[in-house]
Amino acid sequence: MIAICSCTQNGQSEQKEEDVIHYVGEISPHFPWEDVDSCMNNKIEPRSQYAPCPKCGKASEELLWIDFCSPSWTWSSLCGRKGPLSICTDCHYQVQFICETMS
Ligand SMILES: [Zn+2]
Repeated sequence: MIAICSCTQNGQSEQKEEDVIHYVGEISPHFPWEDVDSCMNNKIEPRSQYAPCPKCGKASEELLWIDFCSPSWTWSSLCGRKGPLSICTDCHYQVQFICETMS
């Protein structure tokens, strides 16, 4: 499994730093795709004036926007994240996450 943050399911925190930043930043969050895929049905209205795809330059309003919510175990571990997430489907790239709720 992919380590998502410093608070893991088994209580250990031996991940390297590159493994623990996933749920911290708001730009280019790179959530595990399995978690993103599980939120793919939560499509929301595209938002303009946000970051374009850094790979192909597609404008934010042309990206796929979903209402992302991290898995339930992240909330019980106090590292849950919820908010709009933009995805470039052409590049299969998570462009921007706007964290509106965190545990
Ligand atoms: Zn792109």
